[in-house]
This record gives sequence, structure tokens and C-alpha cells, in this order.
Amino acid sequence: MTDDLPFWKTKSMQEMTRKEWESLCDGCAKCCLVKLEDEESGALAFTDIACDLLDCETCACGDYPNRSVRVPDCVTLTPENVDQLYWMPATCAYKLIAEGEDLPWWHPLVSGEQESVHQAGISARGRVVHESTVPMEEWESRIVHWPAVGFEGYYEPGEGINPDTDEKSD
Ligand code: SF4
Ligand code: SF4
Repeated sequence: MTDDLPFWKTKSMQEMTRKEWESLCDGCAKCCLVKLEDEESGALAFTDIACDLLDCETCACGDYPNRSVRVPDCVTLTPENVDQLYWMPATCAYKLIAEGEDLPWWHPLVSGEQESVHQAGISARGRVVHESTVPMEEWESRIVHWPAVGFEGYYEPGEGINPDTDEKSD
């Protein structure tokens, strides 16, 4: 019986409605953090510096409909590009579903409450500051590991898509 199963277990990403697709986002806001790239290794590290459009207390985008215009490097997730975004946090629902995993207990679609993602300590709520408040020369000192739990703080190119070749690594 597939009727009793939730949509993320029965539909491919391409089959999901717009509303279903959007609801996969748990609202953690970790994808809205500034990431720094090691020039030699290509490894990425998260910082606790957030996009200026992010509401740091609610983790909501301040202008979601116009985000791509207002922040040109804000990536719009699609079923087609989700498996290429190797830097997405390990807890990201899109990444989990793309990798064939289930959603965790704290995901709002499972818990029924938006608060659970914050209560579980998964989100960036209350832990980040706006990009415009931190001089760029201080960004390196703001590297943090909590957004990448599960990957020990860094996403190595070998763990996803190699950013140099854009090809999938083993
Ligand atoms: S990391 Fe994934 S789940 Fe979290 S806010 Fe970004 S898109 Fe949504
Ligand atoms: S524009 Fe909105 S969704 Fe995009 S990074 Fe900034 S806060 Fe996040």
C-alpha cells in the first residue's frame, strides 16, 4: 500500500508538486551561510555569517520571491541541480531525499511543527550574524563546524561533486 506513505517516499523529485517541493525545506537556513573555500584543496567551510536577507531569529528569507534578483548568488534548488550542490548541509532534506534517505524526526513534515528543527539544534536560529556586520578580513575567524555535522566540518570535493571538474566523485 503506497497510499499511506508520505509523498517524499512515493514520488520522485520531478513528480512532486511545487507545494510539496517547497515543503521539503526544513527552514534550517544553513544554506544561507557564507562559505569559504580553501584555494588549494577546494574544501569548503561554513561560517556563522549569514546572507543579509536572512531573518536570523526566524531563519526565514526576508524576500523569498525576489531572492534570486536581490542576491544573485542565492542558488534556487531544483530536482535537476540538487545532486550537484555538494556543499549543502548533510541535514538538508533535499540532499537526504536525493540520496534515498528518509526525513529525520525533527523535520516539520514528520513532526508536524516548524519549531522542531530549531529545538533539535539543527537550524541557524540565533547563532548567526549578518554578512554586512562582519568585515571580510574577519570571515576566516568565523568558521564554524556545526552547520556541517556529519561531515566533520568540511565538505571535501571527493565527498560529492568535484568543483574543479563538475563530475561526481566516488
Ligand atoms: S539547507 Fe536545505 S533544508 Fe535547510 S534551509 Fe537550505 S534548502 Fe532548506
Ligand atoms: S536570499 Fe534568502 S534564501 Fe537566498 S541566501 Fe539570502 S536569505 Fe537565504
